[in-house]
This record gives sequence, structure tokens and C-alpha cells, in this order.
Amino acid sequence: MDSAATSPRRSLATRILVGLVLGATAGLLCNLGFAPPPGEPTTPAYDWVVWVADKVMNPLGQVFLRMLFMVVVPLVLSSLILGVASVGDLGRVGRIGARTLLWFVLSTALAVALGLLLVNLFAPGKGLDPDVAVQLRAQFQQAVSEKVEQAQKGTGFSLDTFVNIVPKNVVRAAVDDREVLGVIFFAVMVGIAVTQLARETVAPLLAVLEALYSVCVKILGYAMRLAPYGVFALIFATSAKLGLPLLRTLGTFVAVALTGLLLHLFVVLGLAAKLLVGVPPLRFFSRCRSLAITAFSTSSSNATLPTTIRTATDEFGVPSAIAGFVLPLGATMNMNGTALFEGVSVLFLAQVYGADLSLGQQAFVVVLAVLTAIGTAGVPGGSLPLLAVVLMRFDIPPEYLGLILGVDRLLDMARTMPNVVSDLLCSMWVAKREGAVLKT
Ligand code: ASP
Repeated sequence: MDSAATSPRRSLATRILVGLVLGATAGLLCNLGFAPPPGEPTTPAYDWVVWVADKVMNPLGQVFLRMLFMVVVPLVLSSLILGVASVGDLGRVGRIGARTLLWFVLSTALAVALGLLLVNLFAPGKGLDPDVAVQLRAQFQQAVSEKVEQAQKGTGFSLDTFVNIVPKNVVRAAVDDREVLGVIFFAVMVGIAVTQLARETVAPLLAVLEALYSVCVKILGYAMRLAPYGVFALIFATSAKLGLPLLRTLGTFVAVALTGLLLHLFVVLGLAAKLLVGVPPLRFFSRCRSLAITAFSTSSSNATLPTTIRTATDEFGVPSAIAGFVLPLGATMNMNGTALFEGVSVLFLAQVYGADLSLGQQAFVVVLAVLTAIGTAGVPGGSLPLLAVVLMRFDIPPEYLGLILGVDRLLDMARTMPNVVSDLLCSMWVAKREGAVLKT
């Protein structure tokens, strides 16, 4: 029964992986074969590749992404309210909430510390040719000003970040990606209120939410059937345009950031799986395949949330009350990879700028990276406006962001994987501490 239930899922995971590998290979081959060398005019063949990437592959990929995004708000609402309501008494909600936040802060701080260690060891910013730095800044000027503008508009990190957790208008919060925390706050309040009211009063609401939750999961199933094609299209569109020459120029930076992200994912989180929840790392990662690939190809913790919930409950037996409580919070607040990337980027750009950050300042980078990662929206490139804010705090001109924008998409895909895997592990750890028996 068990193997019959899991084999179709396995074959879906494999098909998604095939989509990923084929899309990446086709895209990279097109880039290698047709992209003009830096500084030279584009060719008709490369224009054609860009046309296919922008007008065929990207729209196809967007349909898949939107199918996932579409269920996020109803899923967060229904899963969180049901989660809090079924946890039952307030003391238990508080305990689970406290453990969840403890995990978020500790795992994120550990990730930044690892990133900073690597940048200090390899100093990628010291070897960058100053002429190249000037060129890159000029090339991405326009994109940078957009991020800086967003940062100044208050989408960055400030006291308001905390005030805004309480939404003025929950419908408006549901409309804006950057205000998912407001929706979460509302859902937690509803869940708490439900536990305080008579069962007959809230039973109709709970029945509706349960139905809504099942409908969302069903729609997610439809979306995942598109996944192999969606992933192919998204990865093709990115890799066909991924300036490989740019990758070479920023090689050490990209290598340091990727090494940090992979070490955190496979070593730190792998060890945590073994030591804290008793799942051998290989088994853990093999059951996380679809999750990791969805995170990698969508670059979005929010879009991956439905898959994270499904992986936690179906693959590892996390009770749905705990998964429903921990994972929406995690998708919005717990970003290990993002924080690591921020730490690496700030130090790298400081090195290029010629400002060596002292140990005390680096400790402050850790604090800021943890806080800004909490404020980051779980969408592609969600951390960039916040990174601009952190740079300004250290008197590094935010225009320096332009240096890394060209390779950000690759790093965004890579950092979203530890972001969601850490959410998953958190839900497993909390469930275990609450006495649940996990499928190990
Ligand atoms: N794309 C990341 C996520 O959704 C956020 C970021 O680092 O930009 O988890």
C-alpha cells in the first residue's frame, strides 16, 4: 500500500529532475553557442534565443509559477487557522511558536556566520578588476535604482517592518506579496480566537476552512503535474540568458556564495536532520528532491510553500496541525540561504569598495542579515531591496549592488533551497518535541 502510494510521486520527482536538467542543458548550450562576447554587438541568432526565452519559455514557466502562487493566500489562511485551532490550548501554541522562532533565529545566524567565515577566508572582493567593477555598475544602474527606490519606499527594513506585521486591512495585506506577515498575523489571531469560543459557534467556520484546505491541496496537485514542463521552461529562460562570461568575472564571489549555500544545505541541515530528528541525511535529501527542485526552479519560498507542506506531512509524517502552523511562518520569516547570501554579498562589496569591516562590524552584519532575512518577502529577488538597506548602513553606496545583479538569479535559486529545507526541518523538529512519531 505504502509503495503503491509513493511510486507515482517518485516518478513525478524524477520527471521534474529531468525537466530541470534538460532545461538547464538546452539553455546553457544556447548561451554558449550564440551569446556574443561581452562588449560586442548581439547577433541575430542570439536575438532569436532571447526571443524564445522571453516570449515562449518565460510565459510558460510563469503559468506554472502562478498556479503555485494562486493557492498561497487561501492555503496560508486555512492551514494556519486550522493549525492553531487544532493545537488547542494557548500554552501549547505559545510553546510551539517559541520553539519555531528559536529555530528560525539560530539556524539563520549559523548560516550567516558560515558565509562570513568563507568570505574572510577567500576574500573574493580583493581580486576583482576595478575596471570590470566600474563596467558592471554602469550596466546594472537602472535595475539598481529600482531596488534602492523600493528600499527607500519602506519596503526595506525599519521599525515599520515590525509595526506592519499587524495589518490595517487584511484584504489589502493579502494583495501584497510583501505583506504576507500581515495575513499570518490575522490567521494566528483567528486561530487563537477559535480556541476560545464554544465548539458549536466555530464548527461551520472550521468546516469551510477544512474544505478550502483540501481544495488548495487538490489544485496544487494539478500544478505539480505541470511542474516538469514549468521547470524546464523557467530554467531554460534563465540559463539561456545567464551571462556565462559574467559568471567567470565574478567567479570567486559566486563560488564562495554557492559553496556556503551548499555546505549549509547538505552539511549543517543534513547533520541537523540526523542529530535532531533522527533521519539519516541521504534519506532526508532523497525525500526532499521535489521540494528542493521546486525551490530551485521557482526561486520563491512562497511558491514552494504548498510543496513544503506536502513534503512535511506525506513524506515525513509531520502532523498537519504543526505543518500548517510552522511552515507558512517559515516561508515568510525563516531564510537561512538568504541571510548567508546577504552576509557574503555585504562583505564582498565592502572588499571591492575598499572598506574592511572589523570583527565588531561583521557581528553587526550577522544581526542585520538575520533581521532583514525575516523581513524578506519569499519571492524571487525578495532580498535585494533589503540588501541595499544593509549596504547603506555600512556606508557602502547601494549602487554597488549592480556588481552582483547579473548573477543574482543563479544565487537566488540556490539560496531558496536552504530557505525551504530549513523550514521543513523546523516543522519536523517541533513535531518531534511535541511527541509526534515521524516517518524516519
Ligand atoms: N527568493 C528567496 C525566497 O523566496 C528570497 C530571496 O532571497 O530573495 O526564499
